[in-house]
Amino acid sequence: MDFELTDEQKMLRDMVKRFVTEKLIPMEKEYLLEKRKERQLRTRHEILGEDKFLALQQEAKTIGLWALWLPQEVGGAGLGLLEYLLITEELKKTFMWFEFGGDAPHVLLDANEYLVDNYLKACIRGEKRYQGVFSQTEPNAGADPAAMETTARWDGQNWILNGTKTFIGEAENADFMLLPAVTDKSKGHHGITLFVVDRQTPDRPGYRVSRLIETIADDWTLCELDLDDCPVPAENVVGEVGEGFIVAQKHLMVRGRLHHGGWQLGAAGRCLQMATQYALSRVTFGKPLADRQAIQWMLADSALDLHCTRWIAYHCAWKADRGEDVRLESAMVKLHADEMAFRVIDKAVQIHGAMGLTKETELHRFYLTARMLRVAGGPMEIMRMVIARSILNEEHQMF
Ligand SMILES: Cc1cc2nc3c(=O)[nH]c(=O)nc-3n(C[C@H](O)[C@H](O)[C@H](O)COP(=O)(O)OP(=O)(O)OC[C@H]3O[C@@H](n4cnc5c(N)ncnc54)[C@H](O)[C@@H]3O)c2cc1C
Repeated sequence: MDFELTDEQKMLRDMVKRFVTEKLIPMEKEYLLEKRKERQLRTRHEILGEDKFLALQQEAKTIGLWALWLPQEVGGAGLGLLEYLLITEELKKTFMWFEFGGDAPHVLLDANEYLVDNYLKACIRGEKRYQGVFSQTEPNAGADPAAMETTARWDGQNWILNGTKTFIGEAENADFMLLPAVTDKSKGHHGITLFVVDRQTPDRPGYRVSRLIETIADDWTLCELDLDDCPVPAENVVGEVGEGFIVAQKHLMVRGRLHHGGWQLGAAGRCLQMATQYALSRVTFGKPLADRQAIQWMLADSALDLHCTRWIAYHCAWKADRGEDVRLESAMVKLHADEMAFRVIDKAVQIHGAMGLTKETELHRFYLTARMLRVAGGPMEIMRMVIARSILNEEHQMF
């Protein structure tokens, strides 16, 4: 086994670290001071502001940070999942929400020529924005997405979509989204089809953001979508009709879980740094907090927690890049990262005392997001269910 990152991987990580340190972190204080009274921020984009967000994406593009995850054959940078994790970890060391531009969902790599040209390549050309919008959850189908009720019926010209999708992030900002719907209820998992729903279709009929749902994290507002006889052309079907659930699982599941793993690692890492600095500078009873064993043990436990999560995540990404099946390991990464981040951030808050519970430090931003991520992208119970099923079915010879 080789545990060493390559020189290219280290360079990439350092480049993103510099970008985050120089461009994003300096904006945090102003955001905390100026924006914290403005409730009802609508989306994560508005943390930076749309113009700043797009300008930074263009600036990043000039140093090669563009279409990072798509293969070189289609014009992307061709980075693997390990690089994805390294970059996500660095990006999430700030709560100033930002993503590099030019990317499209990998699921479109297997799609028809029309979708490749008009969506995948359009993202790389900077003509369309995807923003990772996958509209799956419904009022009666969350942890169990196969229970979805949104239907798509062929009327001879178009697929006609009807139903409600809820708790969807970024649906207001993306130009298009991936959206699964039932095309044949009698076939269960094999009766769900994946569609590209384009919000730019002129006068898009039958599609409406019907509600904005505020969450405990002020600037992570989610959307509810109403589909009311919404027509979608045949060429917007991704893969085969009826195979959308399988296609989405194949392309989105592992990537999504690793994204969350990297996110929690970055957030927890930053909070541990903050706790360490605070412990060194805050004096009580005549000595810095850092001199007290109670505080040292909290820092030590957090460092250990982070280290363990980092290595299971890196290992999982490394295996996935070699083409191995990591459905079990990716569930472990998501679960462990969710629990780790909450422990580490909570200890950082404790070390900061009352200050940690104010809105004057960055900690509360990380705290709330870490809480959200324990449900988003597959709740922890479902990750445990996946792991337990795998062990009980003896699918994996890991132990
Ligand atoms: C911040 C955030 C962003 C999101 N973004 C998106 C998005 O962009 N697109 C999208 O499609 N969805 C999104 N979601 C929705 C998310 O995927 C769902 O919330 C999640 O799948 C859980 O569904 P639910 O909330 O309906 O919980 P339910 O399915 O009602 O479950 C409630 C609780 O019970 C647990 N539970 C359910 N079944 C079992 C079981 N069999 N055994 C044990 N425990 C169980 C769950 O883990 C959960 O804790 C987002 C959610 C959040 C919080």
